[in-house]
Amino acid sequence: MSIKLLGIEIDEFDFKGSIKRAFELMGEDKVSQVVTINPEMFGEAEVNPEFKRIVDEAEMVIPDGVGVKIALKLKGHNVARIPGVDFAKKMLEECAFTGERVAIIGSKEEVVQKAVNNLKNELKGLNIVYSHNGYFSDNNAIYNELKEANAKLVLVALGSPKQEYFIYGAKKILPPCIMVGIGGSLDVWSGEVKRAPEIYQKLGLEWLYRTVSQPERFKRIFPALPLFLWKSFKYKEDK
Ligand code: UDP
Repeated sequence: MSIKLLGIEIDEFDFKGSIKRAFELMGEDKVSQVVTINPEMFGEAEVNPEFKRIVDEAEMVIPDGVGVKIALKLKGHNVARIPGVDFAKKMLEECAFTGERVAIIGSKEEVVQKAVNNLKNELKGLNIVYSHNGYFSDNNAIYNELKEANAKLVLVALGSPKQEYFIYGAKKILPPCIMVGIGGSLDVWSGEVKRAPEIYQKLGLEWLYRTVSQPERFKRIFPALPLFLWKSFKYKEDK
C-alpha cells in the first residue's frame, strides 16, 4: 500500500512492516534503494526532475520527518513516522543476528570510525565488511570497492540529495543488496550528535529538541515547513 503526497508515492508501513519489507527486498535478485523522505526532499523533487525520478524509482520510500506525517494527516491519512535512524539501526540489529554482510559509507573519517566501533561493541555479531568516509570525489572507485565487499546491507550517509544520487548510480553496478540513505545517522551513532530524549521522540517533538540544540539546522529546515504543509494540502492530483 502507498499514499501519494505532492506527486510522490510513500509506502504505508508500520515500523515492523517496513523492516519486513526491507528484508524481502534484500532477498531479491537486484539492488534496492530505500529513501527516507523529509519535507526538504519534497522541495528538491519539486525543482529537480532527476531527483524526483530517483525517488519514483526507489523500491521503498518511507516517511522520515514529522512534517511528512503531519502533511499526510492533513489529507486524512494516519501513517506511522519511521525515523530513518531507527529503521537503519533495526536493520543492523537483524543483520548482526543473521551475520549478513554490512557496508557503511559517509560522514567524516573520525565520525564513521567511531560509529562503526560503537555499533560493533553494541551489536555482537555485526559483520561490517567495508566502511569509508563520505568525502570522496570518485564514485566509481567506491562502487568498485563495494562490489568487492559484496555486502547485503549498504548504509549511505552523504546527506540528501547526494546519497540518493550515489545509491541510484550503484543500482546497475553492485551485486544484489539493499541500500539506504541515512542522512545524519552516523553522527548520532558516533556520539557526535545526541538524539532527543525518548519523551520528545514519543511525542513527535524531536524537531523541537533539535531546534534548541542545533539552531543553525532550524534556520535551514523550519522556513520551508509551513509552505510544504500548505502545498501538500492544496495539491490536487494526489489521490
Ligand atoms: N556528508 C558526507 N559527505 C558530503 C556531505 C555530507 O559524508 O559530501 C555527511 C555529513 O558529514 C553528515 C551527513 O552527511 O554526517 C548528513 O549531512 P546533513 O546533516 O547535511 O544531512 P541531513 O541529515 O540533513 O540529510
